[in-house]
Amino acid sequence: MGGRGGARLPRGRTEEARPARRPWLAPDAAVERLDGLDVAWLRAHGVRGLIVDLDNTLTDWNEPELPAESRAWLARLREAGLRVCLLSNNRSGRVLAIARAEGLAGGVANAAKPWPGGFRRALACLGLDAGEVAVVGDQLFTDVLGGRLAGCLTVWVRPRSPREFLGTRLLRRLEALWLARLRRLGQLPAPGRPAESPGGPAESPGRPAESPGGGGIRSQPDSQAEGPR
Ligand SMILES: [Mg+2]
Repeated sequence: MGGRGGARLPRGRTEEARPARRPWLAPDAAVERLDGLDVAWLRAHGVRGLIVDLDNTLTDWNEPELPAESRAWLARLREAGLRVCLLSNNRSGRVLAIARAEGLAGGVANAAKPWPGGFRRALACLGLDAGEVAVVGDQLFTDVLGGRLAGCLTVWVRPRSPREFLGTRLLRRLEALWLARLRRLGQLPAPGRPAESPGGPAESPGRPAESPGGGGIRSQPDSQAEGPR
């Protein structure tokens, strides 16, 4: 699944000449909470709109309303002129209800992330190109992978709660292995810090990394890197 290894080198090229590739499951940035992702960092990356996951990102799983901290974060984005579209695999009509209640640009439910259809619908909802949009969500296999396949900036946020859909709980076991690997590779960078490759720091292609923004993922010893909570 990752973008590592695989293709043979062209004749005459050495292993050293091959540019380091970021795994497809590696986000551009990772934060402990949504308030670790600030407007300044988004602007520094040319972001004009966001595609945001709902369950365990903005709210606990299947909750009908957003908590105060998520509403405040969305309000800061709105005040900064950034457009937001919800993108959820949840079948519930609550996706559109929450989008309306929060004054967002829209919501896309039944998205089947990471497949591209839902991301295309969300980009159309925002009226923006993929290069102007950040995807924010709590799952590597849906939000981050789908966002990267769509060509967007991606931000992983630690899940709000262990309570979630059964299928998601099973995927979390595999995700935990990936998270531990990404931590070892230094590829869960806080906003403003470039990811590192095993051979040294390696900034994401075409993405500056010069803005502030706290709340990034804290380094954890592998023994504690058991995955999202
Ligand atoms: Mg989620």
